[in-house]
Amino acid sequence: MGSDTRNVFTVDLEEWFHVCGVGGALAGENWDRLPTRVEETTRDILDLLDRRHVKATFFVVGWVAERHPRLIEAVRAAGHDIGSHGYIHRRAYDLGPEAFRDDLRRSLRALTAAGLPPVTMFRAPEWSINDRSLWALDTLAEEGVTVDASMAPLRIVGALTYPRYPHIRHTRAGPITEVPPLVADRFRHVMPMGWGWGLRMSSPKRVLRAIDAVNRAGLPAVLTVHPWEFDTNPPRVRLPATLHFAHYFRLGGFRERLSAVLEGAAFGRIGDMAPVSATL
Ligand SMILES: [Zn+2]
Repeated sequence: MGSDTRNVFTVDLEEWFHVCGVGGALAGENWDRLPTRVEETTRDILDLLDRRHVKATFFVVGWVAERHPRLIEAVRAAGHDIGSHGYIHRRAYDLGPEAFRDDLRRSLRALTAAGLPPVTMFRAPEWSINDRSLWALDTLAEEGVTVDASMAPLRIVGALTYPRYPHIRHTRAGPITEVPPLVADRFRHVMPMGWGWGLRMSSPKRVLRAIDAVNRAGLPAVLTVHPWEFDTNPPRVRLPATLHFAHYFRLGGFRERLSAVLEGAAFGRIGDMAPVSATL
């Protein structure tokens, strides 16, 4: 298949303060008092995708959809697909089964209220469907979700044993297609590649080589960015050291590096992927 393989580009549409596991100034009860940056930064992403003729899949936080329905409409009008990124952006295993279902339903309602047709794709905040929360796949299927993109083949957030390619998982409510993010072997570790701080740490050339290697195996690479990564002047807050690294490391030049990656490979929406037949 080589370089014609269609890869997948995704955006987790959230505010800069939607950081899992922190309280204090960034606790949920303070969100409405924090400066909003999501309109401006998402419109930057839309411009870049438009310039590169890329249609993408946006996973939208329900809380954001409620406050910015016109932004959601702009995303849809540009031809992008929309999925849910939860309502209050909390990890699946922190919510637990009941609160996860409530949060999922609330997010799907928020997206419908913003004018979207029923949403059938989902990504959990911080890749939080893992061995601590596999029940979430059953819940997703029961609530009408057919595509999940929450399981990272990485240590800590996911597991190295998870497949690196799109595959079908069986749940008690039917099959669900799992679409994992691109990772690569580097420095004897498995690293995120071409998304999040993986894109910030690697040159576009290295990212494109990793994409090409996956494409040569006939598989799509799945990339992910966040609007706040496009913020040239993000509000600064005190975060624990590791989170500070994940959130602020090398944001300068992010747009240019991403633009080079988008130019060097073919990307589309999750819905544009070749049919998935691999089953776990
Ligand atoms: Zn998120």
